[in-house]
Amino acid sequence: MIQSLLDFLNESPVNFLAVDAVAKRLEDAGFERYDATAPLFNVQPGDMFYYTKNYSSIYAFRIGRQPLGEGGFRMICAHCDSPTFRIKPNAEMKGEGGVVKLNTEVYGGPILSTWFDRPLSLAGRVVLRTDNPLLPLTRLLHIKEPLLQIPNLAIHFNRQVNDGVKLSRQKDMLPIIGILNSELEEDNLLLHLIGDELNVDIEDILDFDIYLYDVTPACLLGIHQEFISSGRLDDLSMVHAGLTALVDAQPDIPDVTQVLAIFDNEETGSQTKQGAGSPFLSLLLKRICNAQNGGVDEFSRAIEKAFMISADNAHAWHPNYTEKYDPTNHPVMGGGPVVKFNAAQKYASDAVSAAVFVSVCEKAGVPCQRFVNHSDVAGGSTLGNILASSLPIRGVDMGNPIWAMHSARETGNVNDHEYCIRAFTTFYELPSSEE
Ligand code: ZN
Repeated sequence: MIQSLLDFLNESPVNFLAVDAVAKRLEDAGFERYDATAPLFNVQPGDMFYYTKNYSSIYAFRIGRQPLGEGGFRMICAHCDSPTFRIKPNAEMKGEGGVVKLNTEVYGGPILSTWFDRPLSLAGRVVLRTDNPLLPLTRLLHIKEPLLQIPNLAIHFNRQVNDGVKLSRQKDMLPIIGILNSELEEDNLLLHLIGDELNVDIEDILDFDIYLYDVTPACLLGIHQEFISSGRLDDLSMVHAGLTALVDAQPDIPDVTQVLAIFDNEETGSQTKQGAGSPFLSLLLKRICNAQNGGVDEFSRAIEKAFMISADNAHAWHPNYTEKYDPTNHPVMGGGPVVKFNAAQKYASDAVSAAVFVSVCEKAGVPCQRFVNHSDVAGGSTLGNILASSLPIRGVDMGNPIWAMHSARETGNVNDHEYCIRAFTTFYELPSSEE
């Protein structure tokens, strides 16, 4: 199970490739790809299908035996984007001796310094010319070899470097891609690289969404191999847990309709067509209800019966910074999934939804912890409250504890991942009568 997580992390350097990896695993498990432009009708218990939006968010469904008005939806949500750097248009910047760096802009909120001195590469999507201007062709790009690095400034130029350094996103964070070896190479270095990689003519490359990623593969470490070290654990570890639970849940025709929703753009506030602030999921749920001959009343009842687990990583108690944590609620590594609370409702959890999740963990035989911010620390936000403001579903915000959230390299725990999958599987499998 842990090897499957490591493989998934390595296959998913950016949102588009994460969605592709999820889609492949869903198809291997018998889920059918549906196109949102095609009509949906005659949906039957046991049907398994998925939709994508922008190919950077993905929504999978297994239809239950119960009518939606009776059973509602059993939903797990997570996000597939992570903090990184987007390559700007016209990115090449040539310096002394032909050294070329790429112009980038920051995506989300990375810990900038963690991106220094690591072998990096490029991944994303490239959009190609077709005969129809309204329907260009999209190809995924995943350059697997190390290609770039953002070199630090030597300590000899800044003796105060270990006292903390203010970093400019425009000046300090630009990766170096190489040294030009001829005048001919000067034009369109990046386009030629993409063209060669995808075997397309650079004249046909209309645009791209390409990002930096750390090429160092995910691995286990610790004296008992108890830790997972990887980029993008937030939130791909929760994506993997939800996906594994959906694929493994028994029986083949569940009592209640199961939903897995993986959103994009959580790291920039979710307000896009493929983010948790989009009505896309709500429209899909309505279409599924409609395809089972349910109207507005049936859909409203389904929403009342529904329960959502919004799964996004939490902060594990860090032994070097104990003063940053709440004195009585600081989840530990290996202590199990974490329910997150916030009095200002940045998290969807309340006593009722937390009680439901704790009961699910009990039934699954896994431990469960609670997180609240230290009252002098602002903390983050996530998916649950954004979704709940457009779909008034009971739900809980939870996640597995990790260290160094938004570092290029985060640390998680092997046992927590297995606990989470067991809790999610139990959640999907619970018959509606046991709610
Ligand atoms: Zn997250």
